[in-house]
Amino acid sequence: MPKGSKTERGEIYKDHCVQLLLSKFVSGELSKLTPVYDPKRGYRYMIAEKIVGEPATTDDFLNDLFDAGVLERELYDKIIYCPNCDSANVSVHYCCPHCKSFNIRKSALIEHVPCGYIDVEEKFRKKGKLVCPKCGKELSKPDVDYRKAGVWCTCNECGKSFDIPVPLHFCRDCNRNFAFEDALYKDIYLYKISDEAMQETALGLILIAPIREFFEKHEFNVETPGFLKGKSGASHMFDVMASRGGISRDITVIDLATATEDVVSEQSVIAMFAKVYDVSPEKAYLIAIPKVNENGKRLANLYNIELIEAKGQKEALKYLKATIKE
Ligand SMILES: [Zn+2]
Ligand SMILES: [Zn+2]
Ligand SMILES: [Zn+2]
Repeated sequence: MPKGSKTERGEIYKDHCVQLLLSKFVSGELSKLTPVYDPKRGYRYMIAEKIVGEPATTDDFLNDLFDAGVLERELYDKIIYCPNCDSANVSVHYCCPHCKSFNIRKSALIEHVPCGYIDVEEKFRKKGKLVCPKCGKELSKPDVDYRKAGVWCTCNECGKSFDIPVPLHFCRDCNRNFAFEDALYKDIYLYKISDEAMQETALGLILIAPIREFFEKHEFNVETPGFLKGKSGASHMFDVMASRGGISRDITVIDLATATEDVVSEQSVIAMFAKVYDVSPEKAYLIAIPKVNENGKRLANLYNIELIEAKGQKEALKYLKATIKE
């Protein structure tokens, strides 16, 4: 399944509910979102439900975040819902394949190895012992003189015997029986934040919030992320877009790039340049944590992108403030 782009996620991060949920992952309060079983409703994600405020839409909320690549998931369980009333309070009935009654008796089949006689366990039971009904010998050593030879079922309704019963479902809420064909069979997932979203939101929460405050203090309009339409007609996303009102537009755009290895590659510079070229803001900053490679530096210089290299968020903010005040 194709995962959403950074631009798509940028839109999603604006949602307050999403911010609340992700901040729990970023702060470490939550490492995974585990479903909790509720016999009536099936699985529920209590923390997400509280944030969304609407239990019925929580599944869609999580699904959308998965589609956009914000959350990752793994199969946790499968659940059966009643096709008639949507209840998850469903049991399994093993039924007679002949008359479909669930009133069946399950027995173990035993083989008396020396004489080869096979029958259900009850036929061997005599005064607390196991005795072969054919040759009369006592069965004492499991796996040596007798062994389990499978399962045998007998229907209490029609009296017929069979080895494999038919599973049918029974809804404990509306008391209807239904077969697998009609059952609603749903995947239940355990969710985690994706690496991309962790990086994007961790930066956002720790670095973007103070940048935002800084611009607001200087009476800029700030959007995080900000979207700008370019000459080409395409809309581009920047991690921060600050503009000052008035007739002439005075737009500052900022992108953040963090290195998963040691240095940020020139790719981040090139990607930003493609957007800056189309949008032509007054100022463009690329904050690289911890630093950009040589090629990236050269290109930033060539493209007129101001590079801010910083070891961490604090340092980045300090440099940014100093640069913008100049
Ligand atoms: Zn039902
Ligand atoms: Zn039967
Ligand atoms: Zn025997």
